[in-house]
Amino acid sequence: KHLLADRVKALTPSSTLAITAKAKELKAQGVDVIGLGAGEPDFNTPDHIIEAAYESMKAGETKYTPAAGTADLKKAVSQKFEKDQHIAYSPDEIFVGSGAKHVLYCLFQAILNEADEVIIPTPYWVSYPEQVKLAGGTPVYVEGKESNHYKITADQLRAAATEKTKAIIINSPSNPTGMIYSKEELSSLAEVCVENNILMVSDEIYEKLTYGEEKHISIASISEEFKKQTIIVNGVSKSHSMTGWRIGYAAGEKAIIKAMTNLASHSTSNPTTTAQFGALAAYTGTQQPVEEMRAAFEGRLNQVFDSLNAIQGFRCLKPQGAFYLFPNVKEAAVSCGFTTVDEFAADLLEKANVAVIPGSGFGSDDNIRLSYATDLKSFKEAIKRIAAYVNEHS
Ligand code: PLP
Repeated sequence: KHLLADRVKALTPSSTLAITAKAKELKAQGVDVIGLGAGEPDFNTPDHIIEAAYESMKAGETKYTPAAGTADLKKAVSQKFEKDQHIAYSPDEIFVGSGAKHVLYCLFQAILNEADEVIIPTPYWVSYPEQVKLAGGTPVYVEGKESNHYKITADQLRAAATEKTKAIIINSPSNPTGMIYSKEELSSLAEVCVENNILMVSDEIYEKLTYGEEKHISIASISEEFKKQTIIVNGVSKSHSMTGWRIGYAAGEKAIIKAMTNLASHSTSNPTTTAQFGALAAYTGTQQPVEEMRAAFEGRLNQVFDSLNAIQGFRCLKPQGAFYLFPNVKEAAVSCGFTTVDEFAADLLEKANVAVIPGSGFGSDDNIRLSYATDLKSFKEAIKRIAAYVNEHS
């Protein structure tokens, strides 16, 4: 008899883990490593959220809640959609789960049958392909070309669509590229989805982190008709610096929300009650800290972008959102004597003591991801180290 199920044998571990583990090992040996791998804001959760969660526990809110979240939280999420995107969702069109990752997991479990295809634009967030495969689906990759700011076009989507295409997942602003789809681009993608009856999964977790002129637009707001074909996934992790609280949500078609709720009712029961009270305070209280954190990220980006781009063999598009830089470093890797960027990234950690995430895990072999959810001084020092390393080795 087999110890493990086939479905987990095929799982690949998160690519961010290997380099983070190695960085930790070096740190434990006393090496001064700068880690630029972080996928979470480096600020604490705002005080008023922590206090609301604490008060809720003292008031006895320490029991099970409905599987898809409390009525108050769903109402607050519904009001958030109304206020930010001018989209109306009733509470039974909202599912609150244990983080956006868990919400996406439930969603794919709820909509995919064996052999259903899901279009995943590259570069992608690492968990999409694995979650699709775990639900029995088949990822179909479509390249977001660097020349098109790592975004896919409607023509590319049309060419990739088949009878089996069940859904597409768009992540704007994007992890890892920081790019944002414009209203026109979203409209033309929506058109192809309507033509081919493809569900749009819109991961909007970085919604609040946008810089310069660019603003996030939800594809569900394109038209009332397209809203019905869209499932929005979002959460408080990145916007309110609440990654550890594990609260995310989906909004969309009632039948899908109901199926996700049933799944959660037999697996997680409900997202942690205390965390739901924190998320409720996050949405009903002041949004000032959200803006302060956004402004801090933008300030850092503007302070480091040019010097990163000036490193020999680095070519970086300026991110419009999220908190990552995703330079193409193939030329630098080759001039330092490596055939792959993976090897280059491993050597950067070893010799320059800077931990970056190789792009291969995001389906983009020529890039590396650097997170500026880290203090400015460390980031500047990291750039100095990388520049010195490249100068010395090429
Ligand atoms: N989607 C994207 C694109 C992300 O980068 C992340 C977190 O890294 C998530 C979803 C998951 O967020 P959560 O922490 O709410 O599960």
